[in-house]
Amino acid sequence: MGDVLKTSIEFLKGVGPQRAATLQLDLNIFSFEDLLNHFPFKYVDRSQFQKINQLTPELSYVQLKGVLLSAEEVGTGKGKRLSAIFKDDTGTLELVWFRGAQWIKKSLQLGKEYIVYGKPTLFGSKFNISHPELTLYTVASLQELKGLQPVYNSSENMKNRGMDSKGIRKMISVLLPELKGKILETLNAEIIADLQFLSREQAYHQIHQPQNLEMANRAIARLKFDELFFAQLRILKVKQGRQINYAGFIFDKVGDHFNGFYSKHLPFELTGAQKRVIKEIRKDMGSGKHMNRLLQGDVGSGKTMVALMSILIALDNGFQAAIMAPTEILAQQHFTTFSELLEPLNIHVKLLTGSIKGKERQSILENLSGGSLQVIVGTHALIEDPVVFKNLGLVVIDEQHRFGVAQRSKLWKKNTRAPHVLVMTATPIPRTLAMTLYGDLDTSIIDELPPGRKPIMTKHFTDGARLRVFGFMRDQIALGRQVYVVYPLIEESEAMDYKDLMDGYESLLRAFEPPHYQIAVMHGRMKPDAKDFEMKRFKDGVCQIMVATTVIEVGVNVPNASVMIIESAERFGLSQLHQLRGRVGRGAEQSYCILMTADKLSAEAKTRMRTMCDTNDGFKIAEVDLKLRGPGDIEGTRQSGMLDFKIADLVKDSQALQIARQKAIEILQEDENISKPENRYIAQRLNEITDPKSNWSRIS
Ligand code: ADP
Ligand code: MG
Repeated sequence: MGDVLKTSIEFLKGVGPQRAATLQLDLNIFSFEDLLNHFPFKYVDRSQFQKINQLTPELSYVQLKGVLLSAEEVGTGKGKRLSAIFKDDTGTLELVWFRGAQWIKKSLQLGKEYIVYGKPTLFGSKFNISHPELTLYTVASLQELKGLQPVYNSSENMKNRGMDSKGIRKMISVLLPELKGKILETLNAEIIADLQFLSREQAYHQIHQPQNLEMANRAIARLKFDELFFAQLRILKVKQGRQINYAGFIFDKVGDHFNGFYSKHLPFELTGAQKRVIKEIRKDMGSGKHMNRLLQGDVGSGKTMVALMSILIALDNGFQAAIMAPTEILAQQHFTTFSELLEPLNIHVKLLTGSIKGKERQSILENLSGGSLQVIVGTHALIEDPVVFKNLGLVVIDEQHRFGVAQRSKLWKKNTRAPHVLVMTATPIPRTLAMTLYGDLDTSIIDELPPGRKPIMTKHFTDGARLRVFGFMRDQIALGRQVYVVYPLIEESEAMDYKDLMDGYESLLRAFEPPHYQIAVMHGRMKPDAKDFEMKRFKDGVCQIMVATTVIEVGVNVPNASVMIIESAERFGLSQLHQLRGRVGRGAEQSYCILMTADKLSAEAKTRMRTMCDTNDGFKIAEVDLKLRGPGDIEGTRQSGMLDFKIADLVKDSQALQIARQKAIEILQEDENISKPENRYIAQRLNEITDPKSNWSRIS
C-alpha cells in the first residue's frame, strides 16, 4: 500500500533516477510530498503582453509578442554573443545570449512568431533583453502561459537537466493529479470557517496553479498557518506534558532568608520591574506546578538580583539551589557576587567548574549530596558531571542561548521531582522567535533599568580617527574612569585574532606608557589564574585599561569602567555589540561606546553601526538583528530545528504567528488531549509530524 505522498520522487513520471539524485542533492526533494512542498517564491502575470514602444526602464519583466527577424553571432573572444532582432507592430528590439549561442541559434526559427519574456535593459537609446525565455507562439503555448505563473527556485545543475522553473511547473502538473484525494485536511472546521481558509487540498493546488493572485495569497496564508499552528501546538504540548508529568515542588514559605535579606542587606531599592518579576516567580514556585520560566531583561537590568531573591525562596523552603553560567569567567563573577551578598546571611556558596579538581572538588560534591552546601555556582559541569544533590529545588541558568533544550532536560533528573528552572537571557529575543523557540516557557520581562542610569553614548569612527580616540581615552582616564578595548575573536582565525589583539596591545602600550598608565590583558589562551589576576587588577582600579577579546562579553561587572572601545566592530553581530556595550554604563557616570571600523563597510555593517548609535534598547536591536540575519542565524537557533519553516517567515509573519498560537492555546483548552472527533484531523497531523519515522526517506 504505502502512502503515495511518501513515494520516492524518482517514480514520478518523467523524473527517473538521475534527475531524482539532483533533486535530492540540490533541493532536498526526496518524495512526492517534498516536491509538493517546494513552493514557488513568486508569481508572474503572463496574461498581459506589452508593446516594444511602451517599454520603460522601470519595468522589471515584460512579455512581448512578435516575429524573429534575424539571428547572428557577433563579437569575438569574451564579447562573443548571439544577437537576434525581434519585431512587433510598434518597433524592434535586440535579444542577446552570451552563453550557449551556437545551440540556441540552431533552435531559432526565423520569420516565426514568438512570445518573448524577460527583463529589458536600456542600451544607448534602444532596449535589449538578454537571455529571454522564448516560446513559439501557438494556441497551445498561449494556453500554457495563461494567467499567473509560479516561479520556482532551482539550481544550475537542475537547469542543465531540464528542471528550471518551467520544468518544475511541468513536474508539479504531473504530480497534482496523482495526489487527488491524498492531500488530507489538517485543521478543524471551526478554524477553517473562522479564518476563511481554503481546504488544505485546495491550498496546495492554488499555491502551485493559482487561478488568480487572490487565490494564491489565500493558499499561502493557509499553508503558513498550518506550519505555525502545528509548531505552536507541538511546543504547547511539551509544556502541557511537563505540567502533567512533573509536579513542582511547592515553595509556599517566604522565610528568614528572603525577609532578612530584603529588610537588612538589599544593596539598593529594587526597580518596579524587578519587584513584579520576583512576584511572578514566587507565585509560580508556590503553585504546585513545575516552573520553567524565561526571564528576559536587557543588559544591566538587574537580573542577578532577581536570581538571588528566587534562590532565597528556595532556601527558605529547605531546598538547595544552583546557578549555571556558560563560561568560567561568568561563573566566577556570579560566585563573587553571590558570596558577597549571601555571606552576611550565613549561607554557604561554592563554585564548581571544570578546573576545580581533586580534594576541593571532592569536598564540594560531598557537601552537595550531604546537603550542607546550599548554593552552588558553576558551568555546565554542574549537569554533565555526576553531581548529586541532597535536595535541589531551583536551577537558574544564565545566558540561555548557549544551553539547549536537551541540556535543560538533564536538570530534571537531579531530584525526585524536576527542580524549578529560571532561564535568564543575555540578549532580548524578538517576540516571534521567543514564542517559537521558547514557547514552552513562561516569560517574565524586566523592562526597566535601575534608576540614574545615563544612556550610553555610542559613536562610530573609522581607523583614521584613532588619535582622537586615544585623546578621548586619556581625558576619561584623567577623570578617574576605566576603559575596555575589545578585539574580535572568531574561532576559525584564532591565530590571526590573537595577533590583532597583541598588536593592539603593543600600540596601546606605546600610547599609554607605564608606569603612568597600566594596562591589563585578557584572552582565551590564558590560564584561569592569569585571567583572574588581570581581572582583579582592573576591578581594583590598578589598571586603567583592559585589552581583551570577547571573553569579557558576558557578565563582567566593573561599574567604574565607562568607556567601551570595540575594534573591528564590523566583524561583530548586533547582539554581540550590544552585549559588549552593556559592560559599561553600570555606574552613575556618563558612559561611552566607540565602534572602530574600516572605512569601507557593507550595507549590512552600516546598518548595524547605525542601529547601535541610534538606540540602547536591546529589544529594538534584537528586532533589527532578526531582520538582518533571519532567524536561522541567530546564535544557538540553527540546530534547534524549531525554525525549519518552509513557507512561514518569523520576521514577516508575526501576526499570523500570534493567531496560530492563540488557536493552538484554544484547542488545548477545549480539548486537552485532542481527542474530540471534530479535532481528529489535527490529532492525525500532530501525530504525523511528531513521529520520528515520518522523515524516514531522509535517513538513508
Ligand atoms: P544583568 O541583567 O545584565 O545581569 P546585573 O544583574 O549584572 O544585570 O546588574 C547590573 C548592575 O546593576 C549591577 O551592578 C547591579 O548591582 C546593579 N543593579 C541591579 N539592580 C539594581 C537596582 N534596582 N538599583 C540599582 N542598581 C541595581
Ligand atoms: Mg547578567
